[in-house]
Parts: sequence; C-alpha cells; structure tokens
Amino acid sequence: MLNNTYRDPGEGAIKYANQVFEGNSRVEIEMMLSALLKGDLNKAEDKRVKRCDYCNYWFCDDSLRNTCRTCCDDCKISYKTLQRRKQRAEKAFLNPKPKKETKSDLYLWWLEYPCWANEQAMIEVGWRFEKPMSARKMDYVLSQQEKYGKGNRKKKAEIINYNGNELE
Ligand SMILES: [Zn+2]
Repeated sequence: MLNNTYRDPGEGAIKYANQVFEGNSRVEIEMMLSALLKGDLNKAEDKRVKRCDYCNYWFCDDSLRNTCRTCCDDCKISYKTLQRRKQRAEKAFLNPKPKKETKSDLYLWWLEYPCWANEQAMIEVGWRFEKPMSARKMDYVLSQQEKYGKGNRKKKAEIINYNGNELE
C-alpha cells in the first residue's frame, strides 16, 4: 500500500458499493456511508472483500485465486505508475546524476576578487554580463544617468512655489 488516501473510486469499488446499497433509498445510503468506508458492512467471513491498493475503497475480488490487489484495471495501471514514479524518485535521491560543469561555473564569483579560471570561458560567457563599450558610449550612458537617474526613469518635475511662502 502506497498510502491510505481515497482517490476516485474504480469500477470494482463502485460495483461493490452498488451491491451493498441495493434496495436502499438515498437517505439510508447517506447514513450507511461511513459504516461502508470503515468496513463494518462487510461480511466478516468473506475473504474476497478487501481494500483497493490504489483508490482505497472496498471491492469484491472476482479473480480465480483471490489475488487481486486493485479493484479494476485502471486502478492497477495507475498504481503501477505511482509505484514506478516512487522508485524513480528514490533512485534519483540515492545516487543523483552528477551535474555537468558549464563554462559559467569557471567564474570564481565567491572569491574576494572574482575572476575567471579559464580565458576561453571568459571570452565566450563573460561578454554577456560585462559588455565592452567605447569611451564615447560610456560618457553618453553616464550623462543620461545624471539627467534621468538610474534605470532610465525620468525624475519627477519639481514644483516651485512662486508665492514666496516656503511653508506651503
Ligand atoms: Zn480501485
């Protein structure tokens, strides 16, 4: 059993519930429902009634040797999928794939003076972050920053009070 939460009931579970509730009105069924989920309505000697491993509802096993663990084929497929996903996750957790080293890993950013460990990597990756600029272009950027502030946003125009009363 992977867990004990209820999922959408499978065909077999619905069939069994129909058998149990046959001939009862809606109100009666509502009252019997919690007893059914607890398993109180099952006949004690009936070894064929069990919980589905996937949807977790009771069902009646019609198989020859009474070896079914899920109520229908859909539940079986979903259960197997869940099992496989869990196994894969466990495997990945126990021996994770080693991370492939990329060129940007060669930038030693954690040092007091960050630097590149490899010149080729610096040329191929570094230009995206530190673009070379001509002196003219840098002057232009600086003057624009002085005018508008950082981020190219225009400064709010100052409203000057011409009445001469500075308190206002
Ligand atoms: Zn089921």
